[in-house]
Amino acid sequence: MTAVNVDTLMSDFLNNSGGVALIDGGLATELERYGADLNDPLWSAKCLLTSPHLIRQVHLDYLEAGADIIITASYQATIQGFEAKGYSSEEGESMLRKSVEIACEARDLYNQRCSESSVDYTGDGRIFKTRPILVAASVGSYGAYLADGSEYSGDYGKAMNLDFLKDFHRRRVQVLAESGADLIAFETIPNKLEAQAFSELLEEGINIPAWFAFNSKDGVNVVSGDSLAECAAIADSCKKVVAVGINCTPPRFIAGLISTIKKVTNKPILIYPNSGESYDAQLKQWVQNTGVLEEDFVSYVNTWCEMGASLVGGCCRTTPDTIRAIYKTLPSRSASTTPVVETIQSESGLVMIKTA
Ligand SMILES: [Zn+2]
Repeated sequence: MTAVNVDTLMSDFLNNSGGVALIDGGLATELERYGADLNDPLWSAKCLLTSPHLIRQVHLDYLEAGADIIITASYQATIQGFEAKGYSSEEGESMLRKSVEIACEARDLYNQRCSESSVDYTGDGRIFKTRPILVAASVGSYGAYLADGSEYSGDYGKAMNLDFLKDFHRRRVQVLAESGADLIAFETIPNKLEAQAFSELLEEGINIPAWFAFNSKDGVNVVSGDSLAECAAIADSCKKVVAVGINCTPPRFIAGLISTIKKVTNKPILIYPNSGESYDAQLKQWVQNTGVLEEDFVSYVNTWCEMGASLVGGCCRTTPDTIRAIYKTLPSRSASTTPVVETIQSESGLVMIKTA
């Protein structure tokens, strides 16, 4: 395996992606559409045990819809969660590795299909365009493991502390970092304490980069009420973090949140909202409220990019159709020409890639 250059992985990738890269959409939503039953504390990770072929299919669907980054099915996969189901810690670890293997298999299969396809775009809307593709290993928050909706409240109780969270996440982060994934996606981070825990874990010899995605339910703070600016500043100060942003948050809040993040970091900003519905933790289901229609969601994307987002996609309840629609709306993708790439040797000896 070639060594990952933590410092340049994301900037090189974005340059090669025309300045804006597409993240995939909801995984669980699609697994359910294929008939998977996710009513389980492991949620989409349950399919790692029961139906890995469905996970691979959903990854492929997103790649064919134009996604440049696929996120593994490990959001709710924790060694502790597998142990609670009677598996050993070794089996739990191998399940985590499997989530990355499935995504890498999907990427290999997709690359092969691209090389075999005589066209970049098929009549039925599928995209077979050879391009750089990253596999992001998902790490959900502690609240996701609790499966009680607390990743949407950020309330872990008064007794919670930094060491507990670091101990909880440590082994999973180590296993995923050694699994062949290109980066770690810390997702739905609900509070400052957990951002700090992730940031400190990354400094413990983790050799791949990561992104931090927070969630908000008021468009101002992260869901716990902690300041988004303070959370994003933690991400900014961690060298291993290569992008900072928002996931699983209604689209109508995103513009304001981008402005806040921009004030504290120059790192690439990532945005992958949900469809605008909200999650009812008691009912364990998504309920329609002030959600926006899909075409409205997509109509926001170029505004977000103009404001500074350079990684965009969807979270819960978004589908390959959402991603395909985003692909079509991005000027860098709808243009038929490949960006002109020029390499420049800088004085420090670093090779910079300039896209015209
Ligand atoms: Zn989500």
